[in-house]
Amino acid sequence: MKIPVGILGATGSVGQKFIELLKDHPWFEIKALAASERSAGKTYAEAVNWFMTTPVPDAIAGMSVSACEPGLPCKIVFSGLDSSVAGPIEKAFAEAGYIVVSNSRNHRMDEDVPLLVPEINAGHLEMVKKQKYGKGFIVTNPNCSTIGLVMALKPLYNAFGIEALHVVTMQALSGAGYPGVPSVDILDNVVPYISGEEEKMQIEPLKILGNLQNGKVEFANMKISAQCNRVHVSDGHLESVSVKLGKKAAKNELIEAWNNFSGEPQNLKLPMAPEQAVQYFNEPNYPQPRLHRMLGKGMTVSVGRLQECPLLDFKFNVLSHNTIRGAAGGAILNAELLYKKGYLDG
Ligand code: NAP
Repeated sequence: MKIPVGILGATGSVGQKFIELLKDHPWFEIKALAASERSAGKTYAEAVNWFMTTPVPDAIAGMSVSACEPGLPCKIVFSGLDSSVAGPIEKAFAEAGYIVVSNSRNHRMDEDVPLLVPEINAGHLEMVKKQKYGKGFIVTNPNCSTIGLVMALKPLYNAFGIEALHVVTMQALSGAGYPGVPSVDILDNVVPYISGEEEKMQIEPLKILGNLQNGKVEFANMKISAQCNRVHVSDGHLESVSVKLGKKAAKNELIEAWNNFSGEPQNLKLPMAPEQAVQYFNEPNYPQPRLHRMLGKGMTVSVGRLQECPLLDFKFNVLSHNTIRGAAGGAILNAELLYKKGYLDG
């Protein structure tokens, strides 16, 4: 029998992606859908403004949407809730014994909550044992642009250390949810501001790359400067990164580190895990959102344009799919790791 799961914020951009990705999942089955009072009581087909490119699955269309309150018939809840409401709702579910796997920012920096990217810090899962929610607990995944960045940084961090970096993002429209940025603001335009994004990118990597010591994360010691832009692309965040490494390295050593990078999801052959976690491209004009965002079913992070940097040591570009690797796909990978590591047994 499959593990029953629910989706909080099932009608949103991330919620719809959860439904698409979980449709034929070998271990999990959607048994509950929840959203705001505006949607509660309607069937999913009535409540949602579906904008995925695949149809609403038949088994989902007629399901009733509930309010976001404990009592849903499932063990895990995936949260794609608006951050203005996610904090207390996720806490209430954890206190009621649910395993909450969240995309929202609200609990990411809590001392006892793992900010998980399974290829990088699967060991941080231990932190949930410190949580005081009873049988339930909360696991989070990082901001959508942080995920691509840390996947590219981790192989370099392991091999050479990193002292400092500067990153400039070009972030897709789907990152702003639905209905998102008004069309008149973004047509023929780039908006050089995404509320709270730069702050998240400057702190979240330090927790993810940190060491777990006696149940607490000792943050990585590096300086990060981030500048974030919204661009006229549907899906896929592109980032230009310059890094100062902890020791000297040759270009081919960086490329080798990226191409050889793998972690627990690949070792455990988790269903959502891409075979190639990070892929380096030699072509001088790659990676590009439209061409590479679906690599590894949207879970592979693409890197390219590695060059020596006149200011720091090296510069390069990173691309990742913001609603798959950066949100729903990343959260499903987290839940798969929880299952394989026995965290769903208690
Ligand atoms: P979205 O499209 O605006 O969806 C928000 C969801 O929250 C909808 O299902 C909405 O339900 C529900 N909601 C709103 N107010 C509520 C309330 N008072 N009570 C219960 N439910 C309520 O946003 P999104 O882009 O999917 O993002 C969801 C979360 O994931 C956010 O915290 C975001 O920061 C994070 N995230 C997004 C991305 C991305 O690429 N989009 C990536 C990583 C993380 P109704 O339809 O009923 O209003």
